[in-house]
Amino acid sequence: MKYIDEFRDGDLARNLAASIAAETDLGRRYHLMEFCGGHTHAISRYGVADLLPAQVQMIHGPGCPVCVLPIGRVDLAIRLALDRRVILCTYGDCLRVPASDNLSLLKAKARGGDVRMIYTPADALKAAQDHPDREVVFFAIGFETTTPPTALVIRQAAALGLKNFSVLCNHVLTPAAIAHILESPEVRQLGTLPLDGFIGPAHVSTVIGSQPYEFFAEEYRKPVVIAGFEPLDVMQAILMLVRQINEGRAEVENEFSRAVTRDGNLKAQALVSEVFELRRAFEWRGLGQVPYSALRIRDAFAPFDAEKRFALETQSVPDNKACECGAILRGVKHPRDCKVFGTVCTPENPIGSCMVSSEGACAAYYSYGRFKEVAIVSETIAAPGR
Ligand code: SF4
Repeated sequence: MKYIDEFRDGDLARNLAASIAAETDLGRRYHLMEFCGGHTHAISRYGVADLLPAQVQMIHGPGCPVCVLPIGRVDLAIRLALDRRVILCTYGDCLRVPASDNLSLLKAKARGGDVRMIYTPADALKAAQDHPDREVVFFAIGFETTTPPTALVIRQAAALGLKNFSVLCNHVLTPAAIAHILESPEVRQLGTLPLDGFIGPAHVSTVIGSQPYEFFAEEYRKPVVIAGFEPLDVMQAILMLVRQINEGRAEVENEFSRAVTRDGNLKAQALVSEVFELRRAFEWRGLGQVPYSALRIRDAFAPFDAEKRFALETQSVPDNKACECGAILRGVKHPRDCKVFGTVCTPENPIGSCMVSSEGACAAYYSYGRFKEVAIVSETIAAPGR
């Protein structure tokens, strides 16, 4: 297949659904976690769950970069914009993430903070070049997919000798989060989380490759199938997982072979390790402190590290008591389990981070998942946003 609409073909989707149904063992259940918010979005948008037999249950994972951003880190960015009067640049979906004192970066902008939405880190670098008399801070978020462009602008800023540019780094790592979900004692406190296999991320895996998931297959006996973001990709991955589970196999398979290799993008990996190193621990919204799960800027690039430049200290701030994002991000609850879902909490007025980005489980379920009858795979629907 060459064109994107071929990956959304309704007839092929129905054929795949029939194959999944035919190969499903009616005497057991299949609990499959899609780690990535892009897959959550695709499953909700194209109604994939409605095409699956009742025995196959999809569980949303924590792979939405905006959803896992802890309140304390957003607070730091807000204080930089309001108190230190920096030009604060970030991606559009960070702007509405709820923070302390009923604030968000968007509300900070309304209070006079110079908060700017950018499309790429290069836009932040340009802002620093255009405003040599102002401090410019790039509030960087995301998994392994968005880390290389951040590394690139830090290296460019060093090469240009920029004195007014820095990065508040919040880049996090996928394999550490998967390990945390499989091992964390909190999962047992919040409820049992039966997991039979993972749909592995698409874009992240183009960078890190399929090799890092082999540990989960070998050590935890959990099959992993890396899948693209189109509905047929996801359905093919589900079929491959059902087959592995039926046959008692736990392997890493790559459905997204048109973009992912075992080793990934070695140039991007080298760039990232030149600029960043592992943090001992980092707080994830919903997951708490996760060891070795995030990156910080190496000392060689310390002048571009906003945490050092502004002597920032992150405070841990609990979520709104009504919000179930923590349990949803761990896969132990569903958006419909939250009492304020769709009433007090909506995409226009998000109480928790899972309602902000289109990749968040609550936003995806709010937009596409509440009405079974609207959910079908269609050849005519436009491409997902990320
Ligand atoms: S519906 Fe809103 S408050 Fe409830 S879990 Fe989702 S984001 Fe949190």
